[in-house]
Amino acid sequence: MPSSECLPGFSMSRESEARSPLDDSEVEEVFREDLDEDDEPKLCQVCGDKATGYHFNAMTCEGCKGFFRRAMKGPAKFRCPFQNNCIITKSNRRQCQFCRLQKCLSIGMLKELIMSDEAVEKRRMLIRRKRMAEEPVVLSEQQEVVIQELLEAHRKTFDLTFSDFNQFRPIDRDQNPISEYIQESINSQSVRAERSITSQSVRAERSREPVVNLLPHGSCSSSVYHLEDAENGDKEGKAVFTTLPHITDLSTYMIQNVINYAKVLNPFRALTIDDQISLLKGATFEMVQMRFNMTFNENTGMWECGSLRYCMDDAKRAGFQPHLLDPLMKFHFTLRRLHLDETEYVLMQTISLFSPDRPGVTQHSVVDKYQEMLSLALKTYIETKRSGPEKYLLFPKIIACLTEMRTMNEEYTKQVLQIQDIQPEVSPLMLEIVSKNS
Ligand SMILES: [Zn+2]
Ligand SMILES: [Zn+2]
Repeated sequence: MPSSECLPGFSMSRESEARSPLDDSEVEEVFREDLDEDDEPKLCQVCGDKATGYHFNAMTCEGCKGFFRRAMKGPAKFRCPFQNNCIITKSNRRQCQFCRLQKCLSIGMLKELIMSDEAVEKRRMLIRRKRMAEEPVVLSEQQEVVIQELLEAHRKTFDLTFSDFNQFRPIDRDQNPISEYIQESINSQSVRAERSITSQSVRAERSREPVVNLLPHGSCSSSVYHLEDAENGDKEGKAVFTTLPHITDLSTYMIQNVINYAKVLNPFRALTIDDQISLLKGATFEMVQMRFNMTFNENTGMWECGSLRYCMDDAKRAGFQPHLLDPLMKFHFTLRRLHLDETEYVLMQTISLFSPDRPGVTQHSVVDKYQEMLSLALKTYIETKRSGPEKYLLFPKIIACLTEMRTMNEEYTKQVLQIQDIQPEVSPLMLEIVSKNS
């Protein structure tokens, strides 16, 4: 039994060292695919270790493959310290290079099959190029169908003429309490009758803002607001939040359209009613904001809906506060600057809709699976349509925007309820969306 013993300190050159920086394993992988049809585990014919495929004409492990290449390239002459008949095993294969090499040759490993470093590199580049040419990113047929369905549903429920907006109650920007004043009234929750705003202070505030296009509205008579009227729920009194009636109509309309959109989608309809409600409660605010973002002008910071234009002050005058509006404004700029096309917007909205982790969702895995499919479709779509760094950066940026939206959702709910407390003009549908799941 000559082989298992090893003299102390006799271990030969280590396999881990002296490895060529170039490795032809990648090259061989391609050939290997053709040879290894069955999944049966194969053993190295040199040492009995787990084989990784055919290397230089024999089934061997990675270790023996590397050893053979180095042995053939190197100038070293090996010598057996024993009887030239060592039995090579996985554990002792490093102990006698001479016998290991003999074994390699005896099982038919061929020096001729070792490629030069240059040849390996050349070959590798060829393969890389071939792979890239063979697998251009394309949307699958199923992904194409899904995208078409979503686009159709979106176009049915998002009117780009915004003609319905003319049916909303007029937006009253002339006789506005100042935003800071609104915040104060919310914060203190005690609204005093003496407090009033003169037309002068209103005008001073107005001069600072870029309101371009106002809705036609009738009366501009009173310049004084008696806030106690609003607190007392006096319908005859002047409201605190002058744009609230219009913003309520606008929000209700947008929410209704988002609901209509969801209801057109087969995977949504297939869910239980309870889950449909949970998903909508979770996503509606986000989806409405994404739809508005499609109308956002990043140069003026205004939302252009047909002949109407909105600025963030319109939301302030409806009673919303900076704690929501500041991050929201930032979000609109960030998202708009990604310059998404319609398909990307629609996929993004639908990914938000199918969020399995919304409160109350029970068919978690069904929703999760659909969301994953949508994410993959968006990622692939971007890769097919975009070029340059955008190709790989846009998708993560969109996902970051979706995450950002979620942090505002809760604040929106809080503020809608606060507004309703002061001026109960929030629509039942808006309240339904922000109500907690029972
Ligand atoms: Zn081996
Ligand atoms: Zn030996």
